[in-house]
Formats: sequence, C-alpha cells, structure tokens
Amino acid sequence: STPRTVPLSVDNLRKTFGGITAVDGVSFTVESGTVTGLIGPNGAGKSTTFNLIAGALEPNSGTVTFNGEDITGRRPDEIANKGMVRTFQIARELPEMTVLENLMLAPKHQLGEDLWRSVVPGARSTVVEQEAELRERVWEMLEFFEIDHIAEQEAGTLSGGQRKLLEMARALMTDPDLLLLDEPMAGVNPTLEEKILDRIHDLRVNEGLTFLLVEHDMDVIMENCEHVIVMHQGKVLAEGEPEAIKNNDQVIDAYLGE
Ligand code: ADP
Ligand code: MG
Repeated sequence: STPRTVPLSVDNLRKTFGGITAVDGVSFTVESGTVTGLIGPNGAGKSTTFNLIAGALEPNSGTVTFNGEDITGRRPDEIANKGMVRTFQIARELPEMTVLENLMLAPKHQLGEDLWRSVVPGARSTVVEQEAELRERVWEMLEFFEIDHIAEQEAGTLSGGQRKLLEMARALMTDPDLLLLDEPMAGVNPTLEEKILDRIHDLRVNEGLTFLLVEHDMDVIMENCEHVIVMHQGKVLAEGEPEAIKNNDQVIDAYLGE
C-alpha cells in the first residue's frame, strides 16, 4: 500500500521546569487518519508534550512539524488556523454563555478575529448570510453530538460529560484536520464516554480526521487507537499496536510502579 502522509511529528522535544525535566528527548509521529494514543502513568510528561505540540508551551529544544511545516513555538491560534486544534476547557472560558453561543463564537475565539471567517463557508457573502451559515453549521454540530436539546442552557450548568461534548464540538467548529484531546473522558459517565468514543470513530472513518488522544486509562486507549505511544519519566518507553503494548513488560512495570 502507499505510505500515508505524516501530518504531525515531534523530534527530540525537551522541556524543563526549573530542575525538573518534564519532557526529555521525545520523538514520535502521528499518521493521517489514525487515532494515536499517548499514554503513561501520572507525571510521565503527557500533558507537557501535548502543550508543546499545541503551542501553549515552548520547548527548550526540539521541533514540532505539522503537514511538513515547522510550527515549533507558534501560537495556539496560528496552529489552529493550520488545521491542528486542541480542546479548551469550558470551565475556564465561557460558563455564562449558552451552549449555542459557545459554538457560534468558537471559530472567532480559536482562530482569532482576522482568520475565523476563513472557516465559514460563505466567506465572501454578507455578514447576515455568514451569520445564517454559521448558525446552520452550529445546529449540525449540536445534532451530531446530540446536545441540541440543551442548546439554550448555560455552559456552566452542564454535567461533566456534556461539557466534554461541548468542548469537542467547539474545537470542531474550526474544521480541523487533526484534533488534540487531553483526557477527553476524565470524569465522564460510561454512557457519555461511549458517545464521545463513537463520535471520534465516526469523525475518523467518515471525515478522515486524525486524533492524538492523551489518556491515562489504558483500556480506553487499547480499544480505540491504532497506534500507541507510551511515555514514562519524560521519555518514550514503548510504541506500537495496542496488542503489543498491552503485553509489553516495561509498560506493565511503569504502570504498576505508580
Ligand atoms: P502527565 O500529564 O503525564 O501526568 P505532566 O506533563 O503534567 O505529566 O508532568 C510531567 C512532570 O512535569 C511532572 O513531574 C510535573 O510535576 C512537572 N510539571 C508539569 N508542569 C509543570 C509546571 N508548570 N511547573 C513545574 N513542573 C511541572
Ligand atoms: Mg496530564
């Protein structure tokens, strides 16, 4: 078969906080159209790696390449505009706006004032037409995530699971190629967890989206990822298919040592 393109690769990333080396020479690639899992015990360096990729942190050294372009140290909105988007916690952002308003404003918030219109279909139409098209897209998103019944509810009143669905919907409003998710199922009940995983599967298969899923829970990763990268103490400990990772003695030891 023809080799797939590599939308995201990190090469020899390093990040220190004072005397702590949180990420210590990490390299891996995420191939197009996959759900790739980044796992590891608490403190392994997963979130720091995630933030280095998303542009929330700048590495001491190393590079992040997306679609063939060096994006190391670029701002999150610049990276989002190139097609790689992370979820943002609503908790921190817009709890007093309704679910609908959160989605209407998502492209503007994540791409910046100048660029958000690029993702609205009728970019050259009138403001009123743009607003109507944006609203239509928002309703499609609400229906896709089955949160249309809570469209008028304030985001701050949602359950943990509903909030996670809204966070994913917000990220998708920017029409990304690659979605970065840091523990999207944390604090979510099993029914909504299943729904989130179904949506990820649907978007990968039907829209060709690529996912990098950071997750502490091994079972979630094993059942939903094509490729798994295991971090431990700031380094990549193992990498491969879920079945091989599950039976890797070093990985088992790292998790037991928590
Ligand atoms: P994980 O997400 O795998 O649990 P993190 O990337 O959050 O791991 O953390 C890796 C290491 O870096 C931990 O030892 C953590 O305490 C440390 N660390 C992370 N962020 C900071 C920070 N902002 N300041 C100081 N230390 C940090
Ligand atoms: Mg973390």
